Amino acid sequence: MKLTNLALLFFILELSVFTIFDMRINNLTAITNKKIEYNKALDSAIDDGIVDLVEVDSKRDLILNKEIAVNQFYESLYANFGVIGNGILEERLKAYIPVILVTDTDGFYIYYSDAYEVNKEVLITQRWSEKIPFSYGENNLVYSFTLGNYITIYDKSAASVYEGDYHDLKNRFPDSILADDEIFDTVRRNAIISKIEEKMNFYINQHNDIAYQFGITYQFWLPQIDKTDWYRTMDDVSMLVIFQGYPYNAASLDTYNRYALGGARIKKSKVYYITAENGLKYYHKDNCRHLNGDYSNAANLNGTGVSYYTKEECALEGAFPCPACNP
Ligand SMILES: [Zn+2]
Repeated sequence: MKLTNLALLFFILELSVFTIFDMRINNLTAITNKKIEYNKALDSAIDDGIVDLVEVDSKRDLILNKEIAVNQFYESLYANFGVIGNGILEERLKAYIPVILVTDTDGFYIYYSDAYEVNKEVLITQRWSEKIPFSYGENNLVYSFTLGNYITIYDKSAASVYEGDYHDLKNRFPDSILADDEIFDTVRRNAIISKIEEKMNFYINQHNDIAYQFGITYQFWLPQIDKTDWYRTMDDVSMLVIFQGYPYNAASLDTYNRYALGGARIKKSKVYYITAENGLKYYHKDNCRHLNGDYSNAANLNGTGVSYYTKEECALEGAFPCPACNP
């Protein structure tokens, strides 16, 4: 072989190596871009879902509106994934979400897929589990925890139930986990996490059979969830969505896998109240002296006592910013 031919051969070889390398890089870049896009889509769907998750938000009265939350989540997800209005693609997208978790103050719900048969035809539906309490048993005591200090204890040996702030029950159960604040908190958090994990695992496994009927052979599993994320789910009412096995493109074996989390009132950390004074409506920060530190006072002034989470909402009610608290 002539030297020039050899050089040409090298050139061609090198070119093809670079081309393959380049294609891989392009593919990776495409996947990275898609990943960012999907992350955004999923996060904004969660945000849309939790907007109305907590319907009545006062210390005494909290109603979870999980049906509305899930509907809003899916509507937003369909729109963000560009499948809205296409029933088949919407249903298919749903199949990549094995479970949705909603935590309440004293237990949790799981939204899961279920198959049922009508006229020998298998249909798939999604439904909510019953509320599953944050319960934990040790020795003769069964604890039902909450996201706060309030607990219920069932004493098996005495067949009696006690409830209240755990500090107030310390003396009655001196040899229990109540005796030490740190131990109580650790046991409470671990009990909540393991109860949720156990149930999620169960429903995710069940989902594998159902997804298979959609032609999805992906093996769904309970991902490792960061401790900090678990703690966030325990800080407040929250929603956690597991999204798995979504192919980046038809030819790719790479799949998009992520869990996303949103706290209902973390997003709503700013709360405004509207009052009516001299025929004008004003909106206030929750610590404004015009409210006298009493939110129900706002109810007396405008007859609703509704809490608002954005200034825009207040403006839509025709309210002006209060000159005193300057929200
Ligand atoms: Zn004010």
